[in-house]
Amino acid sequence: VEYFKHDSAEVSDNAHIGAGAKVWHGVQVMPGASVGEATILGKDVYVDAGVSIGARVKVQNHASLYKGSVVEDEAFIGPNAVLANDLRPRACTPDGALKTEMDWTARGATIKKGASVGAGCVVLPGVVVGSYAMVGAGSVVTEDLPDHALALGTPARVVGSVCSCGERLDPSLRCGKCGRSYVSTDGNVRPGPRSSDA
Ligand SMILES: [Zn+2]
Repeated sequence: VEYFKHDSAEVSDNAHIGAGAKVWHGVQVMPGASVGEATILGKDVYVDAGVSIGARVKVQNHASLYKGSVVEDEAFIGPNAVLANDLRPRACTPDGALKTEMDWTARGATIKKGASVGAGCVVLPGVVVGSYAMVGAGSVVTEDLPDHALALGTPARVVGSVCSCGERLDPSLRCGKCGRSYVSTDGNVRPGPRSSDA
């Protein structure tokens, strides 16, 4: 497979990297990880064993994606963001022995298609960030977020909805920038039938 890898990056022979991907300085990709076509892994990104990253994803500098994480197509992971996988982290057992992989179960975060996780965010284990949701910089995401949600703060709270283009939607769920409109059903926002994009 043809992709770009900087000389300083370390990619396991047992990882899959899609065509046209770019793997920049100091990146480490562990065994069993999968990176989709045309995805960009910025400087010093860490992709743990078995992590799945889709196509056309941008992972910015120093982001860490731990075992169990799933990042779908066209998502954005900001610089220094962390997708965590251990809700009760301990270095050792109560007897003082270092814990091994046998002593805990990795449970990763899932970032759905087109969603954005801002700079310095932490997404806790097992949390699902919905499609095209946007999480403000520095937030800690402790609960699942619906599609197109705009969430901010620690813990992250939903404060509105965003368009696929990234602009905030007005109260009628229309985007003032690109004209797309949305409907809300069961707490999820999805493209509406009258969207100018249809
Ligand atoms: Zn828009």
